[in-house]
Amino acid sequence: MNTWRQRIASVLEWSDTDKGMIPVIMLLLTNTQYLLWGQYALHRPDSDKLINATVMHELFFIELCITLGAALLLVAGLLLRRRHPNLLAYQLVTTMYFGLTLVACSNYVGTMEIAAGVVLLGGPVFGFIVLNRMVVWAAFISSLIALATLSYLSAIGTIPYAPVFKVPTDVSSELFWTVSSWLFAAPHIVFIVLIADQTLNWWRKREDTIRELSRTDGLTGIHNRRSIIEMLDKETARTLRHGPPLCVVLLDLDHFKKINDTWGHPTGDRVLIETARLLRSTIRQCDAVGRYGGEEFMLLLPDTTLSGASTLVERCRANLAELVITSDSGERIPLSGSFGLVCNEHYLSASSETLIKEADDALYRAKEGGRNCMVALDMHSLGELQTAR
Ligand code: GH3
Ligand code: MG
Ligand code: MG
Repeated sequence: MNTWRQRIASVLEWSDTDKGMIPVIMLLLTNTQYLLWGQYALHRPDSDKLINATVMHELFFIELCITLGAALLLVAGLLLRRRHPNLLAYQLVTTMYFGLTLVACSNYVGTMEIAAGVVLLGGPVFGFIVLNRMVVWAAFISSLIALATLSYLSAIGTIPYAPVFKVPTDVSSELFWTVSSWLFAAPHIVFIVLIADQTLNWWRKREDTIRELSRTDGLTGIHNRRSIIEMLDKETARTLRHGPPLCVVLLDLDHFKKINDTWGHPTGDRVLIETARLLRSTIRQCDAVGRYGGEEFMLLLPDTTLSGASTLVERCRANLAELVITSDSGERIPLSGSFGLVCNEHYLSASSETLIKEADDALYRAKEGGRNCMVALDMHSLGELQTAR
């Protein structure tokens, strides 16, 4: 049940041939309903008052032929779908068949009735979501021309309007016509609304997943460079002039190339994953961590002063140095990182570019200072503070 629902909801991913079967399935369902309606109308005791039996028999025969044609097209689709999954010609044939046969039937029951309107409007809406654009345009324009021509001919009296119905003489025959019109429209309304709802819902979910993926680093699962810089831009815009202060940290793992060279790239990857996990678990809920480059990470610490951030970063540095990661052969991999920290506490109008540049400068000094340490820069005075190793 669930897989069926998922399969229907992901109708956009169906092959062109599979999609081409939707209009004929729809025709089979609606025509079955129309055929039943025809039989019911013919066998009502007041049938004489409501419908023209001769025309109804003619319509009944036409609908039987249309149903048979739809069944043959469905069989053709089932035979073609494996070998020719993307047969646009099949989709064109079934969609045109759907549009034109419905127009032909609407001529019998009234081209200006609600069913014709629903199909005319809902058909293209559904079609443009699911089917090939050109196919839908072709079917829509040809059906529209056919419908307009029939409406015009019945308006000028060349052909009778809704010949299957007798002109209503009382409330019950009026009601019969109205209810019948609604009955013709009902399956189309239900189908179009349900498919549109399922499809758009699936679309929204896919959008969310794609957005999430575009923000996430594939290896570590934390923010990627674009995402963390976007967040930094937002935070700097927020703190502009009025604060609260924002701290930015750049972390670069020490001698990471050596880890790759000694234990191999997959082990290096594992170190990156573990480092990301450690940073995520050390920072606060409101902070953010992203992978800025290969073995470089960026931390955003909103609403934090330089001294508060120094404590947090120092904890990250110490935790990293104590992190136990073993190689495949069981050796402990020595791990440490250098940290550059800046705060806009006394320079609230600093741009994100300036913050990154200064954090990078602080990181460079940390590397120069012997690695496995933090250099914190107060951006107002640009006086620096270095922790002990
Ligand atoms: P330093 O202490 O000066 O930072 O030295 P380092 O060796 O860490 O610096 P360097 O920039 O020379 O080396 C960074 C290395 O990170 C080189 C590159 O192969 C590696 N690297 C970058 N991205 C990845 C990755 O996704 N996985 C792995 N395993 N290694 C990566
Ligand atoms: Mg580096
Ligand atoms: Mg490095």
